[in-house]
Amino acid sequence: MKKQRIYCPYCGNPVVHRQMEGKMRDFCMQCANVFYENPLPVASSIVVNENREVLLVKRKNEPYQGMWCLPIGFAEADEEVKDAALRELREEAGIEGKVVRLVDVDTVDNYFYGSLAIVTYEVTHTGGTPAAGDDAVEARFFPVSELPPLAWSSNEKAIRIYVEFYRDTWAMVDSYRQLFPEIDALALGDVAPGAQGQKNFLSNVLVTIIEKNAAEITREWVHEVRSRIPVLSMHAEYLGEMNRKVLKAVRQGLHEHGDSFDSLRFKDNGRDLKRLDIGFPDVLNAMALSRKGIWMHVIRKKILSSPMEIYITLELNNRIIFLYDRIIYHLSSGYME
Ligand SMILES: [Zn+2]
Repeated sequence: MKKQRIYCPYCGNPVVHRQMEGKMRDFCMQCANVFYENPLPVASSIVVNENREVLLVKRKNEPYQGMWCLPIGFAEADEEVKDAALRELREEAGIEGKVVRLVDVDTVDNYFYGSLAIVTYEVTHTGGTPAAGDDAVEARFFPVSELPPLAWSSNEKAIRIYVEFYRDTWAMVDSYRQLFPEIDALALGDVAPGAQGQKNFLSNVLVTIIEKNAAEITREWVHEVRSRIPVLSMHAEYLGEMNRKVLKAVRQGLHEHGDSFDSLRFKDNGRDLKRLDIGFPDVLNAMALSRKGIWMHVIRKKILSSPMEIYITLELNNRIIFLYDRIIYHLSSGYME
């Protein structure tokens, strides 16, 4: 328990408790000294590794002996709070670090220490491997989503704030990695098994817009083709039919329905276009308008108000580009026969 003040440190007389400014305070009748209770500054660090695991230490001493917490300790009078955080990190977990930013300041009334101001920083790991020291019996990384109960509620609160801060960034990184599995392959020196097939792109929310509005998107496209490539006007019906197939391929492609793409036989359309005596530059132009039409339709429906939303639309555009490349390849190979 927090130690109680019995005597005045200045004159040695017993202190009394007195109601002052709405609070019970220690008071010395002899020297009229009021003993204000101020929170003690405590510094802690959130160190997260590249696997999104957070560094915790297991407490050697009371309070909360045997429980896990962030590396944490009192700041001393002659040091900055962030330096105290880095010192505790070094002493308790054997890790050298650099402060990135302030995550949280939480004032708590602790049964053991009294009033505390717990200051938590995000810290990058710059050296050392986790090794328990000082007040810790163990130091290791835990997945952010699988933390044990922590000794300090302030630690849990700070980690929640940290995770919330990085939530969108992590979601974008995960989605982007699915788009380009080569990124992980480069980083790991190997292609991760099962990287295919379990895709959960952020931009899938936009695929539903394409699905719902496929007829409308094709109508808009035929209209644009008529006005921008007048020579194709006489084939509007055939082209409208073909674009419905293109949209079907896009939807299937974006849902990763295996090889059904090839069964759509765009090669046949390539032969048709040749037979109709449509110039291939006009085909390319029409396909470019088709791709742009999807993109424009989707961004008209979705307001771009955050980096996350902008990312999602760019990701969709990227995925569509890949599909159109494949479609155009098949069209041209049919056309050239
Ligand atoms: Zn006194």
